[in-house]
Amino acid sequence: MSSPEVHASARLSLAGKVALVTGAASGIGKRVAEVFADAGASVVIADLQPASAQATAAAIAKTGVTTLGLAMDVTDEHAVDTGFGQVEKQLGPVDILVSNAGIQIVAPIEEFKFSDWRKLIAVHLDGGFLTSRAAVRQMIASKRGGSIIFMGSVHSKEASKLKSPYVAAKHGLEGLAKVIAKEGAAHNIRSNVICPGFVRTPLVEKQIPEQARELGISEDEVIRNVMLKDTVDAQFTTVDDVAQVALTFAAWPSNALTGQSLVVSHGWFMQ
Ligand code: NAD
Repeated sequence: MSSPEVHASARLSLAGKVALVTGAASGIGKRVAEVFADAGASVVIADLQPASAQATAAAIAKTGVTTLGLAMDVTDEHAVDTGFGQVEKQLGPVDILVSNAGIQIVAPIEEFKFSDWRKLIAVHLDGGFLTSRAAVRQMIASKRGGSIIFMGSVHSKEASKLKSPYVAAKHGLEGLAKVIAKEGAAHNIRSNVICPGFVRTPLVEKQIPEQARELGISEDEVIRNVMLKDTVDAQFTTVDDVAQVALTFAAWPSNALTGQSLVVSHGWFMQ
């Protein structure tokens, strides 16, 4: 397949595309949905609670783009397949998936409950599998190809104490993305992973006091000596940093950029 030209100076456009973002009622996913809408995509806000998904979709719709707020538990096969079916009926087949929904649970491994391990693995890995399978099916049937983006983490590359299932799941998403890159190439389906450092979203705000308790240090020390310790400038990554990288992966027109992971972390992890 020949490589369509990419004009670096041109504004990246998603005009005419349908993008579904999971976990889009909060944090990183919400900003990704806003940036995609600004680039011209119709956006589907898929999240656990119907009210928050619909409220986020309604707020973005005020900018004049088409949106759909969808209640979707990404761990539930029926909910995922039904949700994708509804999107296809109302907006057309999905061109871009951002598999972003996530949770965090921290504890030392010897105290980690099996039920918590399963819950976390289900959201990140079952969710990544079920949503990407549904998206790939639509992308193949539509013959339009598309872009699958997984929200990994620096923890797709590195480990931290207290995060056994999270680190295992985020490493696993890299493998899933590479398989889809290989299987999807013939259908012009690209698959990539974004690996953010710490971003101050509700998921991280919750962890600060939890880690302080587990590690026996202050919340300031958690931020300075745990979360930002290895960055080059002691700065948090922002939701916008991550959303702009998602836009690049979403808009990239060829298989030149597939099977990759990009770390956005103020130098916490360097490839
Ligand atoms: P967040 O808590 O602000 O948002 C997560 C969203 O996912 C919420 O709206 C929540 O309702 C939704 N969600 C949870 N379980 C779900 C399920 N089963 N089905 C559908 N939706 C579900 O968190 P965030 O920080 O924006 O995290 C988004 C993603 O980014 C996660 O995958 C997370 O692991 C990843 N990430 C976050 C950071 C960070 O520092 N915040 C760093 C690296 C990676």
